[in-house]
Amino acid sequence: MSAARYAVFGQPIAHSQSPRIQAAFGRAEGIEIDYRAIEASPQEFAAALEAFAAGGGVGANVTLPHKEAAFALCATTTSRAQRAGAVNTLLRKGTRWHGDNTDGIGLVRDLTGRHGLDLRGRRVLLLGAGGAARGVAPALLDAGILELVVANRTPERADALVDAMSEPGRAISAYWEALREQGDFELIINATSAGRSDGAAFSLPLSLVNSLTTAVDLNYGEAAIPFLAWARAAGCRNYFDGLGMLVEQAAESFQQWHGVRPGTDEVYAGLRERAATLVTAD
Ligand code: NAP
Repeated sequence: MSAARYAVFGQPIAHSQSPRIQAAFGRAEGIEIDYRAIEASPQEFAAALEAFAAGGGVGANVTLPHKEAAFALCATTTSRAQRAGAVNTLLRKGTRWHGDNTDGIGLVRDLTGRHGLDLRGRRVLLLGAGGAARGVAPALLDAGILELVVANRTPERADALVDAMSEPGRAISAYWEALREQGDFELIINATSAGRSDGAAFSLPLSLVNSLTTAVDLNYGEAAIPFLAWARAAGCRNYFDGLGMLVEQAAESFQQWHGVRPGTDEVYAGLRERAATLVTAD
């Protein structure tokens, strides 16, 4: 019998590490994995997903720019996906898709497990209000942070994200241009894709940083360089990229498809070795 089929959908997708990660988990767990990267434009996504299911596809990851579209295509979704309004993990149930969002728990596991951060009582600045930001915001609140301040280039999207959290007082939005007025933060998260497009330098007030500040970029590779360069120059205590989150969210997806949570340390170490040129002070 041929292996069940899995895939990651996105555009662009050639850079995706997900096939490598899922294959490594499969080898470690003795499970045969057929997991491919499928490039699809926003116009093509729904049809590509149906064709995948018709060809034996039973599980998928969804990345930029399809997470909100994937949410809309699901017949059922988990509560964390509902709060995020975005889906990164699809599981075929009968003739329909069930959607989950493992980004947030992936980030929290990386921060608390791998990097030893205690999130409780912390002020957190979240930059961005796209699919990734919507995924991580509920998990950060659930992890017991004191306050979440969300700033986005398009302020209305930050407002919408905060409204969706339904935690007035604990989750608030701020204008990017007025961040100087927000005081300092123990955790600053870059959930924008700014570093992917123009490579322009990141400019944020130094007053956001205190002696404990950790900065994390959900991006990795070259896209993470501008923000991490800012974090280093600003004197952040720790700063690291999104490779750990990537591995942890992938492990959560793997668990949902195969019923077992794979160990992540070896896969993370392998990816980190490949990305050895990256800036990291962790
Ligand atoms: P998205 O839905 O397209 O959202 C992009 C976000 O970036 C929006 O908030 C957008 O602001 C902002 N943005 C784009 N260009 C900008 C610029 N030049 N200056 C300031 N803000 C800008 O993308 P996403 O799914 O949220 O993903 C965001 C990033 O996180 C991606 O690069 C992705 O690779 C990464 N990510 C990593 C992981 C991981 O596991 N490590 C998981 C998920 C995502 P507007 O609303 O104003 O357009």
